[in-house]
Amino acid sequence: MNLNMDRFDQLGLPKFLVDTIEKLGYTEPTEVQAKAIPKALEGSNIIGLSQTGTGKTAAFLLPIISNLSNGRSKARMPRSLVLCPTRELAAQVAENFENYSKNTKLSSALLIGGVSFKDQVKKLDRGVDIIIATPGRLLDQFERGKLMLTGVEFLAIDEADKMLDMGFIPDITRILESLPRVKQKILFSATIGKEIENLIAKFIKKAFRVQIAPSASITKNVNQILLPIESFETKKESKKDFLIRFLKNEQSLINAIIFCNRKKEVSYLSGFLKTNNLQAGAIHGDLDQKERMEMVKNFKDGYIKYLVASDVAARGIDIPNVSHVINFDVPLNPEDYVHRIGRTGRAGKKGTAITIVQEKEKALISNIEVLINEKIQPTNKGWPKPIVKTSKMNKKKTIANPQPADKAENQLPDFLFTKF
Ligand code: AMP
Repeated sequence: MNLNMDRFDQLGLPKFLVDTIEKLGYTEPTEVQAKAIPKALEGSNIIGLSQTGTGKTAAFLLPIISNLSNGRSKARMPRSLVLCPTRELAAQVAENFENYSKNTKLSSALLIGGVSFKDQVKKLDRGVDIIIATPGRLLDQFERGKLMLTGVEFLAIDEADKMLDMGFIPDITRILESLPRVKQKILFSATIGKEIENLIAKFIKKAFRVQIAPSASITKNVNQILLPIESFETKKESKKDFLIRFLKNEQSLINAIIFCNRKKEVSYLSGFLKTNNLQAGAIHGDLDQKERMEMVKNFKDGYIKYLVASDVAARGIDIPNVSHVINFDVPLNPEDYVHRIGRTGRAGKKGTAITIVQEKEKALISNIEVLINEKIQPTNKGWPKPIVKTSKMNKKKTIANPQPADKAENQLPDFLFTKF
């Protein structure tokens, strides 16, 4: 990090923002903030290659708030716009905006699906300074004539790569074409491939680039572990039974987000955890927005210890203290791996990401390793052994339901057992 940018008051932010940030307990800027904020305050367009958990939201919101604080909102004519791929991420950004803009009179509207049109329109009619929206709902309101985009001067696009994955690039293009007076554009993405580069080339010609980590790299705070299930799976113990045993016995586990590839599996697995007396909840795309937000809040507040999630529903949710991410299924898209495990090890904290892998999923692991440019190691204690000998009987015994006193304990990773 630039040595002169290691305090918030050195970035060029107005004093009221520095005070607010300090009250929030941020002691120093993260790398992306130190690099992007001074340039954004100078008015440059910014392209940020940075994943969630690096503090990128503040990196674009603080300069926007600083700029907005010098003007006034007009009815139906927002002065700035933040586009996010999912409702959860948009809600998260809106929550951050509320926190960062506490000492101002700035107002915001969250335009996302699953929330009543009427309430949104009322807010727009009163006049808001910033709109935080998913592309679909923004275009809906725009096409109904409920807002004008001609007043938008500051634009931020968050998680552009997910926008691409979710098929939003045509919507983004339409929105960008409807913004005649934008002074500043900021785009953040965890990875920047060809399509995103094309979008940048068309709409954000001169921009300052901030690269926090190489494309799709993982924060150093996440300990990544592979659990090759076949090495200890027996006829008696399935992947889900193993998961129960792991969750009940792992000492370092405080809470976990558990990812499945399909919505059906998400509901099924959370039900299965509950029937095993574990406090679990599910978030997936079939739940309405209110239900999803409630579930995330319950998890944040500790009422739910295990949040079973699909990729889209979990995208961008910001929960500061997640001790473990568990990939119950290996993600089909390697980039989802990066996003999944980015839910832990956030804001300087340590986290663990465990990927349960079946023989048939090994090729998916290779794809991930190519993307992140590192090898994911099997359990740091060595590979768990499926069959062990008891010392007395000298006969084969499965470890399907190992008791803590079982001699097998010595040969298996610590986390399989409760310590007494
Ligand atoms: P983000 O990458 O924007 O999703 O931020 C990840 C988390 O880091 C959020 O919980 C932020 O509130 C927190 N955060 C952002 N900037 C800082 C900072 N400078 N110091 C400490 N925490 C921060």
